[in-house]
Amino acid sequence: MSNDEKRPSWVPEGGAEGFACRVMDGVAAGHDGISAYKSAGKSRKASKYSRPKLTPKQLAEGVLNSDRGLLGRAITLAESNLPTHVDQAQEVLKTLLPHTGKSMRIGITGVPGVGKSTFIESLGYYLLNNGYKVAVLAVDPSSSKSGGSILGDKTRMERIGRDERCFIRPSPSSGTLGGVARKTRETMLICEAAGFDVILIETVGVGQSETTVRSMVDFFLLLMLAGAGDELQGIKKGIMELADALVINKADGDNELPAKMARNEYERAMHYLQPSTEGWVSHAFTCSAAKDKGIEDIWKVILKFKEVTTESGVFANHRRQQNINWVHDMVDEHLRNLFTRHPEIVKALPEIEKRVADEELPAVSAVQKLIEIFEQ
Ligand code: GDP
Repeated sequence: MSNDEKRPSWVPEGGAEGFACRVMDGVAAGHDGISAYKSAGKSRKASKYSRPKLTPKQLAEGVLNSDRGLLGRAITLAESNLPTHVDQAQEVLKTLLPHTGKSMRIGITGVPGVGKSTFIESLGYYLLNNGYKVAVLAVDPSSSKSGGSILGDKTRMERIGRDERCFIRPSPSSGTLGGVARKTRETMLICEAAGFDVILIETVGVGQSETTVRSMVDFFLLLMLAGAGDELQGIKKGIMELADALVINKADGDNELPAKMARNEYERAMHYLQPSTEGWVSHAFTCSAAKDKGIEDIWKVILKFKEVTTESGVFANHRRQQNINWVHDMVDEHLRNLFTRHPEIVKALPEIEKRVADEELPAVSAVQKLIEIFEQ
């Protein structure tokens, strides 16, 4: 083929040499990552490296045998939104359910920078050294917006990250808080079936996520700092009522004394709060996650909590109630999705909202109208 034959129509005749564009020979296939199969119109054969398809039963067996690879795959399946995956994941979960429930589920919250990951690493390290298998999960509904997740950099947890008996899974990165929570809860069950004794679930201390995590754990721990501003304290009261223990972190160096004073203050303040768990009085403690100080004492508090609440029946009741609430939450979420995605609602909503905002239509009438549209 001569150069002139390769000339695109927009290049003036005879202008190819001096024109600011060079026409190069193309390649038949295998170019720029486009496979030869694709360009030749053939479907691509499964490469010898692609993973074999596993049935839900095989996946569940792998999880029960503590196979880390299959554990990861089962979790990925549970995190998927594809309808076929959701069905398969439910199959896996059904098989695993009789093997779940044996771990201690612990939620950890606190504002960014309080030391959650350092604390989890320190507690995780202590637990691994004491023969426990530890899974670390996260609920971070903000991660889909910020593009990162709170556990996104947790693979840096060098002391525990490479230990075979430790499993770290960052927050599922898409969807609503309800969606993220569903995935984390299922991940927690899968990890339990794989034999992890302690599940640590981290969440950021802002917004609704701590209430969500509280609803899926046995013990909820709030990390705080000494001398945090008054503006923060207001937010904390509600969260403090969710906590089974309040821990002032960074009690080291010059900060040790202020941390102890803060502990005493919080201890007094907690007298006036509703207990988070029936029959359990929440207390305040200090620790230094960075220096591994006070961690063992906190673990002892958690064990005591388990003992006291198991004896009183609160532990088991709490879990039963959590399962029931979980169903209701998912029904709420599902109905809300059906409603907000309903094409007629999508069409009618902006106008109805405008009329309510302009005080032309009372809110109750607006709701009646929307429900009518939905039910048609
Ligand atoms: P997170 O955002 O709550 O997960 O907080 P990080 O665990 O990332 O910790 C935030 C910063 O506080 C890091 O620079 C840590 O090294 C530091 N830090 C965490 N725990 C302690 C502690 O017990 N003492 C001191 N002095 N620093 C700490």
